[in-house]
Amino acid sequence: RSRDAPLRMAVVGSGPAGFYTASRVMSRLPNAQVDMYEALPVPFGLVRHGVAPDHPEVKNCQDRFDEIASSPNFRFVGNVSVGRPGHAAEHCIVRLESLMRHYDSILMAYGASEDKKLGIPGESTLSGIYSARQFVGWYNGLPDCAGLEPELARGDEAVIIGQGNVALDVARILLEDIDVLRKTDIAEHALAQLAKSRVRRVHVVGRRGPMQAAFTIKEVRELMKLADVAFHPVDRSLVPQDLKALPRASRRLMEVVLKGSPASLQPRASKSWSLDSCLSPKLFLGHRDTPTAVASTEFDVTSLEAPFDPQSRVATTGRTLILPSDVVFRSVGYKSVALPGFAEAGIQFDGRRGVVSNDGLGRAMRLVSDGNAAGAAAQQVPGMYCAGWVKRGPTGVIASTMQDAFATGDAIVQDWLSGARFLRCDPSHRAGGWEAVAREAGPSAALSVSWDQWRKIDGAERGRGRRVGKEREKFTSTVDMLSAVA
Ligand code: FAD
Repeated sequence: RSRDAPLRMAVVGSGPAGFYTASRVMSRLPNAQVDMYEALPVPFGLVRHGVAPDHPEVKNCQDRFDEIASSPNFRFVGNVSVGRPGHAAEHCIVRLESLMRHYDSILMAYGASEDKKLGIPGESTLSGIYSARQFVGWYNGLPDCAGLEPELARGDEAVIIGQGNVALDVARILLEDIDVLRKTDIAEHALAQLAKSRVRRVHVVGRRGPMQAAFTIKEVRELMKLADVAFHPVDRSLVPQDLKALPRASRRLMEVVLKGSPASLQPRASKSWSLDSCLSPKLFLGHRDTPTAVASTEFDVTSLEAPFDPQSRVATTGRTLILPSDVVFRSVGYKSVALPGFAEAGIQFDGRRGVVSNDGLGRAMRLVSDGNAAGAAAQQVPGMYCAGWVKRGPTGVIASTMQDAFATGDAIVQDWLSGARFLRCDPSHRAGGWEAVAREAGPSAALSVSWDQWRKIDGAERGRGRRVGKEREKFTSTVDMLSAVA
């Protein structure tokens, strides 16, 4: 049966998952009304605060998001976080429960705001150890990370733990010529500190070998092309002698890794990097003179059961190795956490995988005991959906997030058209959207930022950028963002 009133949906999070799901729903249900809640006054999630500043082409998706936001059926509710205390005092918090009263459907698309830890001694007690998430947020002007001030002038040696694309982004930012970075939208405070950096040698360390690493060819190539940055060859025994037998993507990647960088041929490149294989971090050691600061990292040396098998398991060898570490970056993954109010809303969060429990198509699911010994049955949570990193875990690029968001959008539309239960089917619930939620939130709702106000922030940032010869100079505090709309 068809519904008599248009679908009213709240989206939590304004990254690619939120926008692409909203666009899919709005294109299939042209009357649907979407309110997008974003904790920051500015939209786009990791496209703004994750994607590296020297990858401007990746951010072109923002033009599409701007088109989506221009629809009269779409409303951006910036500077309003759902459930969680936000980034600053000048900020509005609304309860999930309040959203449930005023929408038919809620889409969780709030990404991954924390990071995985190594859980080894020294990690949280020694200074000079940072998560890649914080460092990336710092150079990209994320307000929460603006005060990080990583200690880049303590010495030559940087260790990055993890071998995914985020690790390579961190390596590139550390090694890139500062004059190249100057032309990007990197935060001014980061430029100032990177200009004083003494880092000359970057180790990108993995528990396994090049054949098992998670990085992709584009990111490795970019590092190989950096002027005046040499690459130390990988352990040849970890790459098959005959590359021809490998699948195409893996063969091309290994060719790039083995070829190395042209700068390696220069007798005196001023900086260098390496992919250090088969090292599992064991503990961080303090400095002799400053015991509270990290000086080195001790690793267990591992061995691969099948070095050329991308799925190879590792075993320890009993040997250890110490790498000098004036600064350390932990890049072992982002992590999503549950929102306050999930339990009351009947939403189950899989803490191990860091995802909202769902049916793979984005429908939130919970296990319900069927009252006999047979165990529990999975049941759909009416009106609740998820997309993006909080649906499938913190991996994947914007293109895969888009595909996954479309699948969630299709599930929402299908459920709506098939007459499935949604939130306001309870007669005591009135779908009143943001106006009704704002009334319940009280005076702080006046701090919300609309799309037109975001455009003002955008214009002000571009203006600041023009004055220093870059595309934009981001505001790095919510106070400054809000004063641009006042
Ligand atoms: P996010 O983009 O994280 O968006 C989530 C949004 O929700 C954020 O704006 C957040 O502020 C908001 N939010 C969180 N909690 C709340 C709350 N309680 N209430 C309201 N709002 C909330 N992909 C590429 O294709 N190319 C690249 O070059 C690339 N580089 C990357 C570099 C890094 C360092 C990282 C981490 C990722 C990169 N990616 C890249 C991957 C890409 O950014 C992700 O696939 C994509 O952003 C995930 O989208 P999402 O919408 O799930 O989450």
